[in-house]
Amino acid sequence: MPRRRTEPERRTIMLPGGTEYVEGVVGYRAWGVHVESGVATLRSVVMTKHSWTPGAPVVAECAWGGEARHPAPASGCDCGVFGFSLASLAYQAFPERTTLHGEVILWGTIRLHEFGYRAEYAIPAALYLPEPLVSSESRAAHQRIASLAADRYDVPLVQRPRGLVAYR
Ligand SMILES: [Zn+2]
Repeated sequence: MPRRRTEPERRTIMLPGGTEYVEGVVGYRAWGVHVESGVATLRSVVMTKHSWTPGAPVVAECAWGGEARHPAPASGCDCGVFGFSLASLAYQAFPERTTLHGEVILWGTIRLHEFGYRAEYAIPAALYLPEPLVSSESRAAHQRIASLAADRYDVPLVQRPRGLVAYR
């Protein structure tokens, strides 16, 4: 008898006032930012042609499957929207090429990989400057771009990722 596939349950929570929330996990990632006429667009660092649409989740698609395309993220593949489990891993993975880092909420099917998650859906939750990588010369430009992006994507521009706490 074939084993029945268990689809992950979508977790939503209804709060007083009638707003329904989808529950996800927090990941950290980096973006390139394209600015044109004062409008900032977040772009994937790896899939550089892929832009993130403000106000809408990114839905994962497998770019490698060819004929044998499968729902993403699949096991044994590299597909899915990536989120690192730690902000420091995003600093290490993208030390120079990117302008902005941030928190993403990931949900739907989520597969673990060595450094975090590959998810079916993702949406930015906060943006911050990659402080360990920002030079004093580029700080003002960085700040300006970060503000434009935070406004456009309607997310807070925070001082640091929430996963960092002061070490005493
Ligand atoms: Zn795939």
